[in-house]
Amino acid sequence: MNDPTGPQRADILTTLDQVRDPKSGQGLVAAGLVRGLVVRGDRAAFMLEVAAADIGLYAPVREAAERALAAAPGIGSAQVVLTAEGPPAPTPPQPRGAQPRRAQVAEDPQARLGNMPDAERPPHVRKVIAVASGKGGVGKSTVAVNLAVALSGLGHRVGLLDADIYGPSAPQMLGLNDQEPTFDADKKLNPLEAFGVQVMSVGFIVEPGAANIWRGPMATSALRTLMGSNWGAADAPLDALIVDLPPGTGDIQLTLVQRLKIDGVIIVSTPQELALIDARRAATMFQKVGTPILGVVENMAFFPDPATGARIPIFGEGGAKAEAARLGVPLLAEVPIDPALRQGGDEGRPLVIAAPMSPAAQAFFGMAQGVV
Ligand code: ADP
Repeated sequence: MNDPTGPQRADILTTLDQVRDPKSGQGLVAAGLVRGLVVRGDRAAFMLEVAAADIGLYAPVREAAERALAAAPGIGSAQVVLTAEGPPAPTPPQPRGAQPRRAQVAEDPQARLGNMPDAERPPHVRKVIAVASGKGGVGKSTVAVNLAVALSGLGHRVGLLDADIYGPSAPQMLGLNDQEPTFDADKKLNPLEAFGVQVMSVGFIVEPGAANIWRGPMATSALRTLMGSNWGAADAPLDALIVDLPPGTGDIQLTLVQRLKIDGVIIVSTPQELALIDARRAATMFQKVGTPILGVVENMAFFPDPATGARIPIFGEGGAKAEAARLGVPLLAEVPIDPALRQGGDEGRPLVIAAPMSPAAQAFFGMAQGVV
């Protein structure tokens, strides 16, 4: 359907094989890392799927592959999506002489369920809405940021708490990288502001990469501090606080969803079967703790044909809709693959601001209305 045949495909694969897989030392094609290559007109895309723990290692590979793809014969615009095979499961180095950690005994984190009685809720926040995913790289943060800014654009008072300890990205995506939050007289954090949205991020308080050695209690206490920031005000409460959760369904995530009083969660998935299996696992976690699932968002749902705009479902089709139906919740949005989304993220200008009429931005506005 969408796979090119003949010489162009062979040329592209040869070009991509010049890029080395840092783990095997082979070319990317020989290493079996080029998945779902699609070429339409002068646009090409594929997916680079790696182990969750290797996402950092492969970020420069993604860039190199995208450059190589764009330079392949007949290609003008290229998109390489880096995605994780499973949720990050860091095994922190044990300090010398440390007691073995209980969580390292094969313990099912979902064995201790139920919402804890002391779940937190900030005083001037009407609804806490979490954005979650079963694995990293599916676009959860992109969805959280664009949803928050879209809600603000629709006239609501909104905050965004970037709680993704594995890869806090809100500061970058909202152009707040060089800024630091201030404290009030009571040592409470004052959120920053971008595009009408109050923003607090774990990225403001920890060094990049440091989160990998975090454990549940540390993550929870740091996030309680962020949650306790000066969100809204008595005379101007936030209508919604959007919380970008760390991906996955492990111990840390479970502790967080139990401790933070979440009114509803949005689950983000890409259409691939593996991502959907992880999304289902996340849905099960929320169902068990009694958090209502507001709906499912299918990200990277299709690649719009540059000539006709027709949907090219490069990563599969219909899976998220079926998953939403299975859960009895709405499919809140189908967000197309749009290189401008990443560009917007890198430049600190979310797509709903940079190109509000684009199909992807319209998907976010539609989603925001659905959430309201
Ligand atoms: P997660 O929070 O799930 O780890 P991110 O939101 O950080 O994922 O997205 C991972 C990468 O994919 C980012 O570079 C982002 O810009 C890009 N991306 C996300 N959604 C899309 C999309 N629909 N089209 C193109 N690129 C996307």
